[in-house]
Amino acid sequence: MWVLDPGNSSELLDRLRPHALSPDFEVVWCGEGWRALVSECHHELAASFPDYRFYAIKQKWGALAYQVRPRTVGASAEELAMVHAITERYAQRSRRICEWCGRPGSLLSDGPERMTLCSLCSEGLKSTKYPHQRPVP
Ligand SMILES: [Zn+2]
Repeated sequence: MWVLDPGNSSELLDRLRPHALSPDFEVVWCGEGWRALVSECHHELAASFPDYRFYAIKQKWGALAYQVRPRTVGASAEELAMVHAITERYAQRSRRICEWCGRPGSLLSDGPERMTLCSLCSEGLKSTKYPHQRPVP
């Protein structure tokens, strides 16, 4: 699926939920290929900012957009810079990982929208809505 939902990522969503700003948090808007990235980014943020909050975690312009603030209220410029440095590092990594299957990929900008995919998934998307490759666990 193109989202991380309770059917494919319930354990991860349970860990993220306490950090969601929205009480309606249900899914992460990116493909299963980035599940490990989302999990690692969460782990790193929580290690430095145990009370961090996110607005959204999604794919934007073909990269992982992990939109956070350091705590529920208030934060210094230094803390904001730190969380930005962490999330930006994962955005960079996501531009080299297929969003669908998790194998090495690259940012493609020739389609209707920018996506980061491997060659097999990008070929598959030309004929079907969902590529045939199974996401790596
Ligand atoms: Zn792929």
